[in-house]
Amino acid sequence: MAKQDYYELLGVEKGASADELKKAYRKMAMQYHPDRNQGDKEAEHKFKEVSEAYEILKDDQKRAAYDRFGHAAFENGGGRGGPGGGAGGFNFDFGGGAGGFADIFDEMFGEFMGGRRGGGGASGRGQDLRYNLEIGLEEAFKGTQTNVRVPTSVQCDGCNGSGAAAGTQPITCPTCQGHGKVRAQQGFFTIERTCPGCHGAGKVIKDACKTCGGAGRLRKEKTLQVNIPAGVEDGTRIRLAGEGEAGLRGAPAGDLYIFLAIAPHPIFQRDGANIHCRVPIPMTTAALGGTVEVPTIDGTRTKVTVPPGTQSGHQFRIKSKGMSVLRSPQRGDMYIQAVVETPVNLTKRQQELLREFESGGKEGSNPQSEGFFAKVKELWEDLKD
Ligand SMILES: [Zn+2]
Ligand SMILES: [Zn+2]
Repeated sequence: MAKQDYYELLGVEKGASADELKKAYRKMAMQYHPDRNQGDKEAEHKFKEVSEAYEILKDDQKRAAYDRFGHAAFENGGGRGGPGGGAGGFNFDFGGGAGGFADIFDEMFGEFMGGRRGGGGASGRGQDLRYNLEIGLEEAFKGTQTNVRVPTSVQCDGCNGSGAAAGTQPITCPTCQGHGKVRAQQGFFTIERTCPGCHGAGKVIKDACKTCGGAGRLRKEKTLQVNIPAGVEDGTRIRLAGEGEAGLRGAPAGDLYIFLAIAPHPIFQRDGANIHCRVPIPMTTAALGGTVEVPTIDGTRTKVTVPPGTQSGHQFRIKSKGMSVLRSPQRGDMYIQAVVETPVNLTKRQQELLREFESGGKEGSNPQSEGFFAKVKELWEDLKD
């Protein structure tokens, strides 16, 4: 039987992108996966074919070889010694020594959290879980302890995770004699795949635990205490090893990852260890000088001396009033940016006073305006010429 074209098999164009290939394969693999088509030889065959096609096409080098030589690229391999021999040869081994199809599946479906290569699948390791946690800037400053409730799987107490009914033990899988893998010849290739009888565990359960139905774990919500250290950054990932989903039949548990987000603060902007804050300053204080009181991230207040003639945009640095620094007793600085406020809703009297103030002025009190208008004047003079 002539082998079908790999692209045709996956139902994609020859120029398909890696993403398109992956999508097509994922769809096919879901459809023909042996777990979903128990005993269906045709589906199993199709599954092998599409997996083989994907295995080749997802690898740039193998794909290039295939595009040039078709199936012949692999039939001749690296000459004597078969596939995998010599440079330019082609090493095709589904087993890869460790997980066979399960690895492909991990790669495809275990992408949750960037996945965990080589885990999951055949070994039944529990999934990693992600929990998104938002905290305030004050909490990030002080550090905090919080409880999170995570819907997950926990080990079954009825069977201590083995999945076998009380008083019984799992037995060696008769399909694979405990290897967890079975090999099948397909054309030139020997394909090794996870044993369908035990899903790679090497053992099967004759009397399943009544509580968990043999899975060794139960769906449950778990409450965990999480310590958030002072000075954490937005986007920090905290890993709680072994606090993810329980493994299948006693396999290791996955990890729980807490993804921290820091909520925007109404008055403070964080910049690493420093904190910025825009503070409105009354026009009179800016002109005459004085002090303003500003809040700080630690919940106290601090006084800032405003020198006479302070302009909008002027920055004051207050040392060590910024954020805490992770695993350090130090603190960043706080930067206060003055925003001089022009008064509004003036009374008659205030207006009079301001007019009087204006008429009583002397040259040099508004250097910026004077400088600006001097330049404008020059510009106009130049234009006249
Ligand atoms: Zn159980
Ligand atoms: Zn088996």
